Amino acid sequence: MNNETRKELTAWLEFYQELGVEGFYRRNPTATGSAPILEAVRPPQPMTADPPKHALSPAPTRTATAPAPLKPAVPPVPVTAVIRPPMPVVSLFDAAPARRSGPETLEQIRQDLGDCRRCKLAPTRKTIVFGDGNPHAELVFVGEGPGADEDEQGLPFVGRAGKLLNRMMEMVGLKRQEVYICNVVKCRPPGNRTPETDEVEACSPFLYRQIEAIKPRLVCCLGAPAVRTVLGIKEGITKIHGRFYDFGSTRALATVHPAYVLRNPREEKILREDFEKIRDFLQGA
Ligand code: URA
Repeated sequence: MNNETRKELTAWLEFYQELGVEGFYRRNPTATGSAPILEAVRPPQPMTADPPKHALSPAPTRTATAPAPLKPAVPPVPVTAVIRPPMPVVSLFDAAPARRSGPETLEQIRQDLGDCRRCKLAPTRKTIVFGDGNPHAELVFVGEGPGADEDEQGLPFVGRAGKLLNRMMEMVGLKRQEVYICNVVKCRPPGNRTPETDEVEACSPFLYRQIEAIKPRLVCCLGAPAVRTVLGIKEGITKIHGRFYDFGSTRALATVHPAYVLRNPREEKILREDFEKIRDFLQGA
């Protein structure tokens, strides 16, 4: 290994160590004979009732079912469980930013995303929908992925589902420009299908970094893919909606996706009630 490569590798290793990633293993050369790539792996950590110090500290081995164990309720909002933000396996050279000191900004993350080609959504997308809103928001909404309107305009939630989201925010006195809105994946899945696992794995590190940069008081997961990606919970959304979870140094709440309510107008009550909980939480101390 020459000096230049050694220096670059050292910088990457230090960067990952700052994120709390300790273990590395060598991926086998691929069938095409390309060079082996070092991958960072999280040390497995059991879910714990102690809130993590840092939102991106080593993440848990998450259970596929209900989050556990329960944490005692913290007035005024009862917390259902403590979830550590996930840090998926990432290639040293694919997803991480250049080494930098201090917290990242959204601009730096956007720059690092670049003209992303990390997954198979890239060839069919028109625009990368990075996210939009207040970089210091107290509330971050995470949706599923851009639809046709979002792909066209490069902004999240500007179509019919977005109009409903706007209406819900207005109902509880929130202004769209006060919050930050983004998605599990930043490129439109063809035909608005649900994002696939490999697409979520490629894109979600950027979502986690956005949340870490904003440090909101609350992350609101809109629909099952957001709940799975942010909280690692696979339980039905209609069962777990409206509950608060500790998520690193912030809190997270799950609710139904506005598009689900558009398809099932009678379920608007769920969204309304959960938005009232959001309002109460944000108005709390
Ligand atoms: N649905 C989503 O999940 N995200 C958007 O940005 C728009 C619609």
